[in-house]
Amino acid sequence: MNTLNDFNFKNKKALIRVDFNVPLNENFQVTDATRIQAAKPTLIKVLEDGGSCVLMSHLGRPNGIEEGLSLKHIADKIEDIIGVETIFVSDCVGEEACFAAENLKPGELLVLENLRFHEEEKKGDLAFAEKLSKLGDIYVNDAFGTAHRAHASTTVIAQFFPENKCFGALLAQEIEAIDKVLKTGEKPVLAILGGAKVSSKITIIENILDKVDHLIIGGAMAFTFVKAKGGAIGNSLVEEEKLDLALDVLRQAEEKNVTIHIPVDAIIADNFSNDANIQISDINNIPEGWMGLDAGPKSREHFHKIVMQSKTILWNGPLGVFEMENFANATIALGNSIVEATKKGAFSLVGGGDSVAAVKQFGFDKRVSYVSTGGGAMLESLEGKTLPGIAAIAE
Ligand code: AMP
Repeated sequence: MNTLNDFNFKNKKALIRVDFNVPLNENFQVTDATRIQAAKPTLIKVLEDGGSCVLMSHLGRPNGIEEGLSLKHIADKIEDIIGVETIFVSDCVGEEACFAAENLKPGELLVLENLRFHEEEKKGDLAFAEKLSKLGDIYVNDAFGTAHRAHASTTVIAQFFPENKCFGALLAQEIEAIDKVLKTGEKPVLAILGGAKVSSKITIIENILDKVDHLIIGGAMAFTFVKAKGGAIGNSLVEEEKLDLALDVLRQAEEKNVTIHIPVDAIIADNFSNDANIQISDINNIPEGWMGLDAGPKSREHFHKIVMQSKTILWNGPLGVFEMENFANATIALGNSIVEATKKGAFSLVGGGDSVAAVKQFGFDKRVSYVSTGGGAMLESLEGKTLPGIAAIAE
């Protein structure tokens, strides 16, 4: 793996693709700077070596130039976090950018305007990538959140730096965390998949059946499995067209010696609301008019045991409708179990899709081994895909 530490950046300009796609409020202030914080180790390494940084990122989904999505709004936040004054240029390519990059001195930070103000960025345009490539000596990709996109700045640009390209510290950490689960994880390896739909997780399930010893299937997804096995699930969410697929997954798991754990009981409600009437029910005997919105107490206890006996844990997706207080208990209990297992030495990785929102909401993010910064990129990695942004550096 080409990492930052393979290079000495003294008197070099590092052209760094970061993911500074941060949320802004109506006054264009950054409301969550996690992504800027996450890039700090990479920027500090370059600056401490005696190099300079040219930072390129996208922000939001602009349609042409949109003032509200200018990276100038986040320049101050970058200064606060990195502790170095920034120079901002109002276009990521062109004369102004070239002039600023040429005159950049060691220890300085140049922030380029939003890459997506040019449609060539998302198209992966070669000529645009080449123009960007002129702005630095060494290309560093530290944007895991966009590593699954073959955009100009994330993938195409790498070919202009055949010898001088590497992963940033954050991207290297993400790759290492995924490898620790999918390749080198200490056994028993447990994956917990929750969330809404089997269809959005099926490729992950099929990929990880070769890598894990135990698989917990929770959330609404579980009901497709329960129904496929002949259970009565009332009005719970189900994907009728995935029933055969669910049975096939169960068969494959048996062949591969993977133990699948599905909730045995559920918190059921008479409508999709926090104020609904609530009961506890066996998972396969839910009356008509009622729907399962969380895993029940017996399931929680069973999942706790499985988590505590695992040495490597991957968690993606909530066990219930965690956005509503009355249906958040199994997700919270699971988070606590994972924190406890982590304290006892297990490696725990949380990520993919919206998992991070749940983990942050309940304050587990600092107490697991690693929380991924990439939603879609993490899901695609778990599906076993080689991400184009990673391949472009590795090849
Ligand atoms: P995903 O994006 O696939 O990880 O799904 C996350 C969503 O699944 C969350 O918004 C949860 O509210 C929802 N979810 C989890 N369990 C259930 C359930 N039993 N019924 C309906 N929605 C659920």
